[in-house]
Amino acid sequence: MKKLLVLLFLLFFTTSCAYAGSDYLFLDKETKYQKKIMEMGFRILNANRIDKRMTFSYDTNKDVNAYTYGGAKNIVICKGLLPYFDDDNELAAILSHEIAHGMDYHDGFFKSVAMGFAPKKYEEKADKQAVDYMVTAGYNPVALIIVLNKISGEKKGISSWFSTHPAGSRRLVLIYEYIYKKYPGYLVDNDYRRNLYYQNFLLISKDDREKIRERELKKIEKNIKKNEKKEAV
Ligand SMILES: [Zn+2]
Repeated sequence: MKKLLVLLFLLFFTTSCAYAGSDYLFLDKETKYQKKIMEMGFRILNANRIDKRMTFSYDTNKDVNAYTYGGAKNIVICKGLLPYFDDDNELAAILSHEIAHGMDYHDGFFKSVAMGFAPKKYEEKADKQAVDYMVTAGYNPVALIIVLNKISGEKKGISSWFSTHPAGSRRLVLIYEYIYKKYPGYLVDNDYRRNLYYQNFLLISKDDREKIRERELKKIEKNIKKNEKKEAV
């Protein structure tokens, strides 16, 4: 009996210490969010060999918002954003976008002034960079379109994230175009084909996607003709 008690004690003791590892069993919900955000942030940094220091934290504020402070080197995800994440890829999308901003700020004071004057340009750049970061870290970049289709409104000024970020479907189409050109595999073999929010994006972007396809086909045709000419010479 005594042996059994010792065994039970040891079992309890070792499992309760397991929080230091990958087992979150004994942590409360909020702490788990904090840990998850932090782990995913560092995974994206490491996978992309980013040698700049950044921190990741969770804010219990219910605003639909993600923000940065300290020259965009500290990235914060607010509780209000959590209902918009249906999987890890979508959280990775927002983290990657904010990391991309952090990298621009790391380039120094003049860059941050330039970012202030041309926010749209730097937002588009951060979206493309986020796609690259996601792919390198093993996340599906289509999730950036999906999560933005949920949170990025057509009109500005609803909440702070909306007011500092470009609105509209144009932004989503630009991300789609970037994935189409650079990582078409994710669109051909698309895990999100049946996703509610992706299907909605397909509806709203039908004409724009058609134009992208035509443009790319023309480019291919042009290249073929060029090569044919070369061969003839
Ligand atoms: Zn941004």
